[in-house]
Amino acid sequence: MKKRFFKILTLIAVVVLFTGCGVDDKPTIEEDNQHEDVPTNKENEAENEDSKDEKNEEIITEEEQNPIDSIDLTKEPNELGEIMILMYHGIGEEETVWQRTAANFRKDLEYMYKNGYRMISLNDYAKGEIYTEEGYTPIILTFDDGRQNNFNLIEENGEMVIDSNCAVGILEEFKSKYPDFNVTASFFLGTNPFGQIDYAEQKLNWLIENDYDIGNHTYSHNKMELLTGEEIQAEIGSVNNIIGEYISDYSVETLALPHGSNPNDEFINDMLEGEYEGNSYKTVAVLDVGWRPAYSPFDTLTDFKSLYRVTASEIDVDGCGMYDYFKQFEENKRERFISDGFSEVITIPERHKEYLNMDMVGDMLVNIY
Ligand SMILES: [Zn+2]
Repeated sequence: MKKRFFKILTLIAVVVLFTGCGVDDKPTIEEDNQHEDVPTNKENEAENEDSKDEKNEEIITEEEQNPIDSIDLTKEPNELGEIMILMYHGIGEEETVWQRTAANFRKDLEYMYKNGYRMISLNDYAKGEIYTEEGYTPIILTFDDGRQNNFNLIEENGEMVIDSNCAVGILEEFKSKYPDFNVTASFFLGTNPFGQIDYAEQKLNWLIENDYDIGNHTYSHNKMELLTGEEIQAEIGSVNNIIGEYISDYSVETLALPHGSNPNDEFINDMLEGEYEGNSYKTVAVLDVGWRPAYSPFDTLTDFKSLYRVTASEIDVDGCGMYDYFKQFEENKRERFISDGFSEVITIPERHKEYLNMDMVGDMLVNIY
């Protein structure tokens, strides 16, 4: 943590040094005058010497502080590699296509942690804000349908506590066990978030306070392809309004498509932006059903309105389940995203440079090797 903080500080210093010469930079009046004043010869000499010293100092610190110089290329960073967005549904007693047992969910998490994966939130992915430690691969967990077994409260000694075998209970267990796992997940909800309606407000607030995210899974779980623009806005907006009643200062910005059904082209904008009963919404990331790993957010091939997911199951996955892709990554049959450790630098191997989406890169530094 300390190391990251230092890296961020040094980067800020570098950015300040660079932008200090930029056209858009607005100097204070005092600074501006300093540069425009024509000094006498003597003053000039003295100032030159001063600024020479200053410059030397700047160059030295700049060299020392340039984050690109501290990137360890032996870890083969590749920030245009793929990222898995795992699609979970239930966690329960029986293993089915749409439900993982608590034991298997623990096995998944253990596997991810021990094999170089660290969690990031879907919201951060959509913004291209990736804080993964260097050499590690980001992974995203999602849960559809807002089932009670995702977040279940049980009574213990007259108190309501988190069921240690529900999804949140297990995630919290791993959060304590492996603090550097960066445990987080997105829960995609419909009309009845996690059952136990009396505790809905408490649960949603707890999730937000504990670094989890909430997404939209629509009101009726209908196929979007069958809906009109107005119906789509009602399907999304009504759920946002329900969630907004419990957690008013949180904006739901992500959507998991029921049955992976995309709207007709003419109604895609209604999915991305709309209004229902006076409240507007904006969607930054839309998820399909499980199929294959997603591209990096910095890849020109990424379509944030139709992001690939991987089915978090081992039943009926037809070679497209999470362990199939873990294996392909391990055997280098697919290239996974490997972080350079700096959220503000995008490091990519030369061979991928044509896929770099400069709109997503924005102000960040690019490091091609
Ligand atoms: Zn669903």
